[in-house]
Amino acid sequence: MSDAKNEIGVAVLGLGNVGSQVVRIIEESASDLAARIGAPLKVRGIGVRRVDTDRGVPADLLTDNIEELVSRDDVDIVVEVMGPVEPARKAILAALEQGKSVVTANKALMAVSAGELAAAAESAHVDLYFEAAVAGAIPVIRPLTQSLAGDTVVRVAGIVNGTTNYILSEMDSTGADYASALADAGALGYAEADPTADVEGFDAAAKAAILASIAFHTRVTSDDVYREGMTKVSAADFASARALGCTIKLLAICERITDNEGQERVSARVYPALVPLEHPLASVNGAFNAVVVEAEAAGRLMFYGQGAGGAPTASAVLGDLVMAARNRVQGGRGPRESKYAKLPIAPIGLIPTRYYVNMNVADRPGVLSAVAAEFSKREVSIAEVRQEGMVDEGGQRCGARIVVVTHQATDAALSETVAALADLDVVQDINSVLRLEGTTE
Ligand code: NAP
Repeated sequence: MSDAKNEIGVAVLGLGNVGSQVVRIIEESASDLAARIGAPLKVRGIGVRRVDTDRGVPADLLTDNIEELVSRDDVDIVVEVMGPVEPARKAILAALEQGKSVVTANKALMAVSAGELAAAAESAHVDLYFEAAVAGAIPVIRPLTQSLAGDTVVRVAGIVNGTTNYILSEMDSTGADYASALADAGALGYAEADPTADVEGFDAAAKAAILASIAFHTRVTSDDVYREGMTKVSAADFASARALGCTIKLLAICERITDNEGQERVSARVYPALVPLEHPLASVNGAFNAVVVEAEAAGRLMFYGQGAGGAPTASAVLGDLVMAARNRVQGGRGPRESKYAKLPIAPIGLIPTRYYVNMNVADRPGVLSAVAAEFSKREVSIAEVRQEGMVDEGGQRCGARIVVVTHQATDAALSETVAALADLDVVQDINSVLRLEGTTE
């Protein structure tokens, strides 16, 4: 502890959506937090880019000199809520090397530099906590690292990006197309001006890397995560999904699989997928997040709540801050990270998946059997086929649409099948190819 009054000195890096809520809660709940920790928390300084007086906090706390702030002798714990990867990485490393515990909400950083940061925390014997980096307020890191520490996790699947879930929920409930649902999300503050990180799945992939690392005791980075965005999901896909008893969600899936040689591997992947309406993730709507964990002894657990926003994210940051502060008071540190399993990453081609393929075809006899033959050549078994006639604006028949849903096969076999279908004369367009998750038939 940093001084004679037994205060725990805290530096908060960032005073934006999350940082301002962190500072507010520290001030407003000061006496409760002190009682829970066994010592009062004291904010020593707040790092920002623009130092001006009208920020709702005492002006003398503000600084743009992050390096100096994290190095102060009276700072015990650094809360990093500024993002992005740099300068946050440099500031966190400096803090850890100087023996300060760190709490961060920075998923982009944890998905690329967790190994380096964990090693620095290890050699300094301090805590590095990041509950807020995945699914905002929802406790999922601590349940995985602590509550399930004695169990074997086999799968973690979730909706971990509120922006895309809002857009997909809108498309499902209103029949809107992607562009207008995205515009609505922007107008309501759910989507950023540049939504690329969300809609192309980068944000979810960062979270999948963090979840897979923890669940399977293996270092997984963003680069290891197979990723597809959701910008091509159409209103027609939602109509077809409904007819099949499904909705469409952008999923982050982390799985332990055993390959044909008996080697255990980790698969981490992000893509839009059909989900049966009776699956627990199907009813997670709007900007909410949910994570379903399956463990050998525990069975299925579901975590649900607000995955973003200043106050919900600050709740997770405060939980970590209280833990780190308690550890300081007791003169120890929390459980260290465990990466002993070192499982290799499974390439996407190995992953057993069910597919939904939606294509426009020539409206003539024999088309269905030509299409079915391509599936059967690659031993991909068809579970369901739907065929509809299409009419043009004048009401004339102008072709047919076929929707095929397969049983489980490897992603490689299914990808080859789709490539072969695209080469068939009778197939005019492959409109969309989506996976079907939440059922293994
Ligand atoms: P934000 O509103 O943009 O705030 C960022 C804050 O950091 C601002 O106060 C900014 O200073 C400061 N900052 C940025 N770069 C800086 C630099 N180079 N030097 C000094 N200060 C700097 O961001 P946020 O939404 O609060 O998010 C913060 C972090 O939490 C990010 O890593 C984000 O991924 C993570 N997170 C956010 C949410 C959420 O719902 N917002 C949820 C989970 C995790 P100025 O105010 O002077 O510009």
